[in-house]
Amino acid sequence: MLDNVLINAAYIVAAVLFIFGLKMLGTPATARRGNFLSALGMFIAIVVTLLSENILDWYWIAICAVIGAIIGALAARLVAMTSMPEMVAVFNGFGGAASLLVAWAALFESGSLFVAITVTLSVLIGGVTFSGSVIAWGKLSEVMTSRALIFTGQRFVNSLILVALLAAAVMFCLEPNPASPYLYAVIALALVLGIFAVIPIGGADMPVVISLLNSYSGLAACAAGFAINNIILIVAGSLVGAAGIILTNIMCKAMNRSLGNVLFSGFGAVKTAAKVEGEVKPISAGDAYLILEAASSVTFVPGYGMAVAQAQHVVCELGELLEAHGCEVSYAIHPVAGRMPGHMNVLLAEANVSYDQLVEMDDINPRIGAIDVAVVIGANDVVNPSARSDEGSPIYGMPIINVDEAKTVFVLKRSMASGFSGVDNPLFMGSNTRMLFGDAKESISAIISEFKP
Ligand code: NDP
Repeated sequence: MLDNVLINAAYIVAAVLFIFGLKMLGTPATARRGNFLSALGMFIAIVVTLLSENILDWYWIAICAVIGAIIGALAARLVAMTSMPEMVAVFNGFGGAASLLVAWAALFESGSLFVAITVTLSVLIGGVTFSGSVIAWGKLSEVMTSRALIFTGQRFVNSLILVALLAAAVMFCLEPNPASPYLYAVIALALVLGIFAVIPIGGADMPVVISLLNSYSGLAACAAGFAINNIILIVAGSLVGAAGIILTNIMCKAMNRSLGNVLFSGFGAVKTAAKVEGEVKPISAGDAYLILEAASSVTFVPGYGMAVAQAQHVVCELGELLEAHGCEVSYAIHPVAGRMPGHMNVLLAEANVSYDQLVEMDDINPRIGAIDVAVVIGANDVVNPSARSDEGSPIYGMPIINVDEAKTVFVLKRSMASGFSGVDNPLFMGSNTRMLFGDAKESISAIISEFKP
């Protein structure tokens, strides 16, 4: 049994580690250390809670920590980089489900009105987070269509579920008990609401949903913290909730949409983008080499296809070769490129691309007209000019990297297939665009081999 002062001191240390860890996650240079500090904080919080509440003996904690570390290390090593977004969705879902269960268990200890209210909040938000994350996982892994699923009367059905949910919650709070049928109703309706809230959101709006679910998982944990009266759970939950909301806001800005618009615009009529027609001009790796070799400025614009091809190392190698030829090289990152926030930054950091070569969308766009060659590596939606000009397009209004304004554009992809949002891309028919068809890693490797006689 631990002394109260010691427990609180350990919780304060854990909270400080969370806060500094989060701060360090803000820039790629300190992100790894930030991750380590946050994990250390969580480890301290869990061990202290288990010991102080006499839940497990120290040797069981040690055994479980070793098993958990092995599972975590294997997951980190074995899950492909392209599957990370799905893993994040699964983590959010587990967070929501865990809060739901913890709060439920709290009812066996106390049936006060305060506990009943916090349990209701935790069960409600946790349930929505769990089932919403399962749908988000399905959309990201393309087990189900990634497009918005809309049916007539959807708004009415959702309102009905919400009203029933609130009514069941009130009934439960009036007579709280762990086996209350109203509690079962709250759980079931929250799960249904999570599904119905996420299915009408799809395509390019998914980043907002992922960050919002992340925030919800924090709020559910925070409510569970109140239910079991655990300070560190309240602190950790609030931090995740707040960070998730800030990220949601950043993602909304990146899409130039309001949160309400993302959450509810799926209820409107389905938009249809204008048909894209024109001549596509393919180029060979050999010809691409000749143009790149003569270029004095090149910017790489990576997208989801770079993650699929695992092309980040060869892209970095090509960048170094170009620099050795006196070319100015940069990497332009769109905030929603890939399938999770920061996806491209993580990949390029893994390939040791220098941080000061990374340029944000708002910084590259004003000077992109002066760039000799923009090399688009498996990006599609984030460079689609119809987002600027086609009011009927589902991605209309989303700011893009204006690669079409560069002097020459190379687009590296395998086919004419559309990106995540399913919209055709007029960039591919642009007069200054050349398509280098094939797997991005193979295409870049072929260009590199031209540099080496
Ligand atoms: P897109 O999904 O728009 O396009 C990816 C392109 O990569 C495809 O057109 C595909 O074309 C190409 N590609 C796939 N595999 C390869 C390969 N091996 N070699 C070369 N090319 C390949 O990606 P973007 O990054 O441009 O846009 C991200 C999209 O995902 C946005 O719509 C965004 O809203 C959404 N999203 C983003 C999230 C985030 O948090 N960042 C989360 C969820 C969704 P082809 O098949 O012809 O090769």
